Amino acid sequence: MSKTNFEHYNLSDVIRKALDLLKYDFPTKVQVEVIPKALKNQDLVVKSQTGSGKTAAFGIPICDMIEWEEKEPQALVLTPTRELAVQVQEDLTNIGRFKRIKATAVYGKEPFAKQKEELKQKTHIVVGTPGRVMDHIERETLDLSNIKYLIIDEADEMLNMGFIKKVEAIIKELPTNRVTMVFSATLPKDVENLCHKHMKDPVNIEIDDTGITTGTIDHRIIEVKQEEKLSLLKDITIVENPDSCIIFCRTKEHVDTVFEELEEANYACEKLHGGLEQEDRFAVMNGFKTGNFRYLVATDVAARGIDIDNVTIVINYDVPLEKESYVHRTGRTGRAGNEGKAITFATPHEGKFVRSIENYIDFEISTMEVPSKQEVAKNRPAFEEKSSGRRIVKNNKTARINKDIVKLHFSGGKKKKIRAVDFVGTIAKIPGVTAEDIGIITIHDNFSYVDILNGKGSLVVQAMDNTPVKGKKLKVSTAIK
Ligand code: AMP
Repeated sequence: MSKTNFEHYNLSDVIRKALDLLKYDFPTKVQVEVIPKALKNQDLVVKSQTGSGKTAAFGIPICDMIEWEEKEPQALVLTPTRELAVQVQEDLTNIGRFKRIKATAVYGKEPFAKQKEELKQKTHIVVGTPGRVMDHIERETLDLSNIKYLIIDEADEMLNMGFIKKVEAIIKELPTNRVTMVFSATLPKDVENLCHKHMKDPVNIEIDDTGITTGTIDHRIIEVKQEEKLSLLKDITIVENPDSCIIFCRTKEHVDTVFEELEEANYACEKLHGGLEQEDRFAVMNGFKTGNFRYLVATDVAARGIDIDNVTIVINYDVPLEKESYVHRTGRTGRAGNEGKAITFATPHEGKFVRSIENYIDFEISTMEVPSKQEVAKNRPAFEEKSSGRRIVKNNKTARINKDIVKLHFSGGKKKKIRAVDFVGTIAKIPGVTAEDIGIITIHDNFSYVDILNGKGSLVVQAMDNTPVKGKKLKVSTAIK
């Protein structure tokens, strides 16, 4: 964190209000570097790790600069995974909440028609994976003619996943008169070439000290035989008794085994791996975020980019074979100045992987003793007490920012020729309500959603019960979704 504060940047009040609620008091290092340059429309290549606050580094200036009135998307953010697309969309929605910024996520495995419908609405920012974004371009359901900002997030991962060609094809569809920002944890040659080819005198920013592998995380390693891992895992969780914990395994099969074992032992746990349906993956991620369970057993699917507040401990049940993966996994804890712990189980034959990780992170990971029987017994009562209660999520940013917002459902839309201005005109006339209290409006064929801010939802529901919109009587209710 730096001592400059956000007042420095002359951001609009609606953005500052969101930052206050998100408790972003001081910009992180990457934000100090990126925000002023982005506000000046400078092309940027930013080498920074996940967990450094990079989403807000581009999110804050983009949300600030978006012209609310324009209908077609002004910013396109490309991400390598669906989970990250959803995460970035949520972050941008939070930052732009009081400016009524509409960010839409598009990614594979979700019905195309649903996204097509969403893209017909006013959308300021589109966040998506390259494949699905390309589909929308080809089927002419995404208008890119007004794109002023392109952000390529986790560019090195795009490369690993074989998406670079697709990214390039998308770039060719964009107006050349745009600002481009590339974020990447590492800068392999192909990423550099891409930047060189498609950017205008980009400024290079390198943030090496992100606090991911240093300072805020206590890194430990325990040597253990493969067949003793499960019992060690239980002992460690009893002794550490974490509020929340991600257990990373190398394969789906290991995830299944560990999950079954923990479930059998009554741990509040869920599992996540690429073999699950997309919907289930989102449900598990959301459940973990909102505190439905304490232990998440996962493959590297959960390691990148996903922002879960306050994961107390990351356990590497298997040593990651790729050194970068160690950084991404352990980056789930100790985020944004919080303290965290990362414990890695290594079998006697895995020394070479551990050394390769240590070379990469540039320090030696301290060893940790296997907890003694006495230690486990001493900690068991506290562990059992915590297990019997629900996990308390201390810092759910989205819930905080949405606290005073109610989504209303109206029983009419396009087919009744109703437009957003009709809602604004009618609702802003209710005594005690102004246009400032109206958030994002989405109009479908036969129904519409209107977000009401500042705790005025019930006032609006009451008043709208008897008030027509554009001369039409609509049913109004609080939306379930
Ligand atoms: P990211 O690197 O974008 O995944 O962000 C890492 C975490 O830092 C997320 O939980 C953000 O919500 C949080 N964060 C971003 N900027 C700030 C800030 N200025 N102050 C506190 N937390 C922040």
